[in-house]
Amino acid sequence: MSVGPGLEHLLIDGRRVEASGGETFETVNPADGTVLARIARGTAGDVDHAVAAARRAFEQGAWPRFSPADRQMLLLRLAALLERDAEEFARLDTMEMGSPIRHTRGSVVLLVDLLRYFAGIARSIEGTTNAPSDPALFACTVKEPVGVCGAIIPWNGPLWASVLKLGPVLASGCTLVLKPAEDASLAPLRLAELALEAGVPPGVFNVVTGFGTEAGAALAAHPGLDKIAFTGSVETGRAIVRASAGNLKRLSLELGGKSPNIVFADADLEAAARAAVGAAFANSGQVCSAGTRLFVERAIHREFAEEVARIAARLRIGNGLDPETDLGPLVSARQLARVRGHMDDALSTGARAISGGARLTGECHGEGFFFPPTVLIDARDDMRAVREEIFGPILATLPFDAEEEVIARANATEFGLGAGVWTGSVGRAHRLSRGLKAGSVWVNCYNRIDPAVPSGGVKASGQGREYGRQHVEEHFQLKSIWIDTAV
Ligand code: ADP
Repeated sequence: MSVGPGLEHLLIDGRRVEASGGETFETVNPADGTVLARIARGTAGDVDHAVAAARRAFEQGAWPRFSPADRQMLLLRLAALLERDAEEFARLDTMEMGSPIRHTRGSVVLLVDLLRYFAGIARSIEGTTNAPSDPALFACTVKEPVGVCGAIIPWNGPLWASVLKLGPVLASGCTLVLKPAEDASLAPLRLAELALEAGVPPGVFNVVTGFGTEAGAALAAHPGLDKIAFTGSVETGRAIVRASAGNLKRLSLELGGKSPNIVFADADLEAAARAAVGAAFANSGQVCSAGTRLFVERAIHREFAEEVARIAARLRIGNGLDPETDLGPLVSARQLARVRGHMDDALSTGARAISGGARLTGECHGEGFFFPPTVLIDARDDMRAVREEIFGPILATLPFDAEEEVIARANATEFGLGAGVWTGSVGRAHRLSRGLKAGSVWVNCYNRIDPAVPSGGVKASGQGREYGRQHVEEHFQLKSIWIDTAV
């Protein structure tokens, strides 16, 4: 595949094919507005073909005969190929969604490790022997792959999300139809080619590019899918839950958040300030678990907010391909407009920005979709910018007085993805970890990820877990087998 304004096809049953409607759409480099490629606009008919191919691959041919050891070797080969082509993948993601090359290079290293972790799990799936009351009965459970899976992913980490969806599918013996986000299709398509090179049989991993309301909606509703995994906004998540109801397919959802990051005066404040900047502004704030509500004990609130603003103001903002860049552009003009809308709303309801606050233009930012890291003071819990997920570099700082108060305010949100706590007190670390309603709580750190540690949301942030053994287990169903030994 070449990068440039070439044409990218769908990848179905191991073959590159045009969309059945023959239509395409453009994908754009958000750093300068140039067209990177034309992408096939897959629709419901293409989704039908892909699901049929995935079903055939699940039930017939080589794939059902792959042993756990074979699947482990396959994942290890894929990891090795991803490591070989790391630079190409890092550049693809940087060019298509803007993230700095240092960040995307680091991501590939983690994803190689993630595939190796899943390779290990592929060999260690176990059932149980059970003990019915009737001694004549023998009973055991076996785990069987759930079947044909769909995945709909967002644009904020296209390679990351693709590997995260594919790894457990390969580890479990399922098959996959992946629908990338319309703003970020290149890395998922390239990954599908790499999978073929690694020896993944045709039809096991299919990619249908296109729009959410066309290809995405058709996939979510498809009666031929046994499971669908979605990562994206709550609103779209709700649409997917509704669409999936037809055949009651298994669901896993990772739906973003408005995560609290709580700083007590007894914490290592230097470390907390540096981490608060990373928590809120990494990937230009386009991170589901971004720590966007910074609660700070009142006595140190103002000084701490100013220190966070000073550190943020030193970040270098520019084209992600420049190795010196700390923050790239937002992914698209649409996302820039959303972020600016939230900014206007925050200012008009009484918040003040002590850094950033307006789109960056001028010589070095040109036509790119650049928005600087923005720290708000005088924000209130009931403001839209404090309640809603912005998915951009806007951080609200909020003073608090007492532990119980901050736990209640941190939890007073429909979301529950991540939460950070900064404190020197072991007791408080425990109390907050248990009191905060979130899928992950980070104490004296923020947004740590490891293949071995499950991640996911509570409340409207989603259901199911990714990473860890649990992630692979969710791709199996349990079968109970009874044998009457008296017969
Ligand atoms: P954004 O609005 O920033 O694109 P979304 O959560 O809507 O965030 O998008 C995440 C993914 O969901 C993308 O791949 C998108 O194409 C897809 N999508 C959007 N709307 C729908 C829908 N109605 N049904 C299925 N998928 C959708």
